Amino acid sequence: MRALEDYNKETVKNLTLLVSTCMRNLWICYVAIITGWMIFAIAGGDYQNGMFVKHYLLAVSLTGILWFVFWKVIAKRAVVLSPAVSYLVLNAYIIILLAHPSGLMIIDALLFGVIAVFPVWNNRLWVKIQLVVFAVIVLIRQAFIELIGIPQIHYMKYMNFYAVLCVGVLVFFCVQYVHTQTMVLGNAVKKDATTGLYNHEYFYEELENRMETFAGLSTKEREEGKFSLLIADIDNFKSVNDTYGHAFGDIVLIELASIVQGYCGAKDFSARYGGEEFAMILGDCNLKDALTRANTVRKKFERTVFKDTDGEEHQFTVSIGVAEYNREWNTASQFFDQADQALYKAKATGKNRVCSQ
Ligand code: GH3
Ligand code: MG
Ligand code: MG
Repeated sequence: MRALEDYNKETVKNLTLLVSTCMRNLWICYVAIITGWMIFAIAGGDYQNGMFVKHYLLAVSLTGILWFVFWKVIAKRAVVLSPAVSYLVLNAYIIILLAHPSGLMIIDALLFGVIAVFPVWNNRLWVKIQLVVFAVIVLIRQAFIELIGIPQIHYMKYMNFYAVLCVGVLVFFCVQYVHTQTMVLGNAVKKDATTGLYNHEYFYEELENRMETFAGLSTKEREEGKFSLLIADIDNFKSVNDTYGHAFGDIVLIELASIVQGYCGAKDFSARYGGEEFAMILGDCNLKDALTRANTVRKKFERTVFKDTDGEEHQFTVSIGVAEYNREWNTASQFFDQADQALYKAKATGKNRVCSQ
């Protein structure tokens, strides 16, 4: 759960910054739209006394000040607002912008809102480009209406089509983004941060699931299908840390993790079981094959050369315990204990070897 909490903290922090970025983008967009509108209105002879101050200076400076204050007081000082407050601030700002009679239609307002809020979830470049494209289109439309005088009704047909298309695309990306984030988060809580392998909790979950599936098979299928478990533990790892430092120890750990992962096929599963202990579930694999595969991992690690800060080279070894699933075992820990006892045997009989019970 730590990974999830850290992720959420980081997201909330980023959210405040994104709200500020969004406010700035909106302000620039708003100034562009309202400037264009003013130019077209004046060019079309629709200029009234005091309009400039009332519709331009007041609106632009008021919203500009709001954004500036938000940036100075909250975002720049890295004050973290809760997501609800962040969204409230942003939407209140959008409403203030849209309340101004700058010629925006309801459908534009809707799009304007969706596009402007979207970067809060997704800071992708295309969203920003879309924001600018939209501002340009609104300006072009204004040009048509004010200068050429195309009947609004024909024109609105295309605008509405375009608006629906934009919203559709945005919703699609939104859903895709939420889906990816959910997957990322789901994996973050299942994985070990140092090695990138699955963690202890998820290992047990997976082992239990596989045992359950296996127990549900017919007797014949069970006779044919086998699966095994392998537990690897680095030899004398405490002295590696004590002699070369913890950071060096971490490098050794990460290397064994990548070797284990490298030998992990589509039917297998690898995890960091604990400190310097790794576990592999070998699907469709009997004891004899599991012993062979364990030896491949052991030899590969034994041959790996590590350089310390003085440039000196070192090699280390690993002991591995192997067990094949026996349908008499009901719990994952019963299965694990068999492989663990085999590991103990490998340690007791001289280390750097593979044993089974
Ligand atoms: P044996 O050959 O019997 O396995 O001896 P050992 O020294 O490897 O075993 P022991 O269990 O005494 O020591 C394990 C060490 O692993 C102790 C701990 O400091 C270290 N360790 C655990 N997690 C990490 C880690 O994330 N990074 C580093 N660098 N060391 C770790
Ligand atoms: Mg150990
Ligand atoms: Mg050890």
